[in-house]
Amino acid sequence: MVRVRFAPSPTGHLHVGGARTALFNYFYAKAQGGRLILRVEDTDQARSTRESEAMVLEDLRWLGVQWDEGPDVGGDYGPYRQSERTGIYLEYARKLLEADKAYHCYCTDAELEASREEATRLKITPHYNGRCRNLSPEQAAAFEKEGRRPTVRFRAPLRDYVLNDIIRGDVTFKDGMIGDFIIMRSDGMPVYNFCVSIDDVLMEITHVIRAEEHLSNTLRQMMICEALGVEPPRYAHVSLILGEDRSKLSKRHGATSVGQYQEKGYLPEAMVNYLSLLGWSSGSEEELFSVERIIELFSLERINRAAAVFDNAKLDWMNAHYIREADLPRITALMKPYLMQTGLIDGAKDENQLQLEIDIIRGNCTVLADVSTYYPIFLDRDPLLEEDGRAFLQLETSRPLVEEVLKRVEALSQALDGEVYKDMVKEAGKVVGVKGKNLFMTLRVALTGKCRGPELDLLVPVLGQSVVCRRLRWALE
Ligand code: GLU
Repeated sequence: MVRVRFAPSPTGHLHVGGARTALFNYFYAKAQGGRLILRVEDTDQARSTRESEAMVLEDLRWLGVQWDEGPDVGGDYGPYRQSERTGIYLEYARKLLEADKAYHCYCTDAELEASREEATRLKITPHYNGRCRNLSPEQAAAFEKEGRRPTVRFRAPLRDYVLNDIIRGDVTFKDGMIGDFIIMRSDGMPVYNFCVSIDDVLMEITHVIRAEEHLSNTLRQMMICEALGVEPPRYAHVSLILGEDRSKLSKRHGATSVGQYQEKGYLPEAMVNYLSLLGWSSGSEEELFSVERIIELFSLERINRAAAVFDNAKLDWMNAHYIREADLPRITALMKPYLMQTGLIDGAKDENQLQLEIDIIRGNCTVLADVSTYYPIFLDRDPLLEEDGRAFLQLETSRPLVEEVLKRVEALSQALDGEVYKDMVKEAGKVVGVKGKNLFMTLRVALTGKCRGPELDLLVPVLGQSVVCRRLRWALE
């Protein structure tokens, strides 16, 4: 059975790159009828926090990623936090020491630094110089006597390694790329690469799907698996995400964490759809996919080797699409906090009325927060005239047109619905001799103060006769 894992380091919010990795793992697990394991890589005690872990899990849940095993849901391969697995790593370090695949190293930081500087001076690769590689028991005992605490250092084999990566094809790591590396620190804490290798093996991970930047770790992990006499998982290294200037996506490019996008008012289905297409393609021209559809089509072979550029405009386009398509009560509930926050409505606002209004303006919104830009048109007060709109109230035809429409709305004895409004506008236009943009924009600005917004024949019935009259009079002032 396919078993994949997403292994976040809980040191902050979930980054969009991490979110994409999580999604690819999730899609692959689902597509293969496999399982997704969530493993928290919190061995870096200085940087990892439980708050970050909770935040990352929350971000993943928001995206709709569902894992089958993890620190919160348990499972047969736990514990799922590396900080709770120290005993396991210790046991495997001991095994490697016994098999002479690793050794105790007594070099101090200062000695290691000096040897690195020497290597740099001689222009050779600054690998570990091998001083403790073959210590006699007496030499070791002498170091112990000095009070030195040893690290456990892995004996890196001297040969080429070839990784057959699912996305990148054969990747050759030349002999001597890395020297002997530490797997346990002198304080008894295991080192990241060691934990990952042990966990991937013990958790019976079949495929490791992760970012390209982990490629150099992969070599170490392959070596460790080999030393333990186990087959490593298959690897699929996903390319980097770049900003629009083609440099690695970072804070400079604006929002980079899932939480920031959520706050700005992006919908999870837009994020999921957008992130899925960052590097993966279905093979068709289609761009709008539900999660179910992605899972149906998903394969690792269709992940692109080239770096993907994060295109905010495209994400915006998708988000606007999903805001239009979403279930109305849901989108109302999501937009309501923005309206409350900006004081445009209060708790007493009628829910049905709010839904009606939101349905009219959601088509103009790119992010949820945009609701506050358009909502004021529903308030029972004079619109705020946008600078760009002024010209449309100053045309030669503007005053007669507004007067003509006002006269008709005032005289109306039936309900002001969209059809009635359209007919009135057409007639008024004829009488005044104006049509097209000058006709529609004048009325839009007269009724809303803005040049952009929802269709007026949808808006006008919700405003009602008296508000419409008041707005038209305001425009005549
Ligand atoms: N914990 C690593 C990270 O957050 C992921 C390691 C892996 O996927 O192997 O970058």
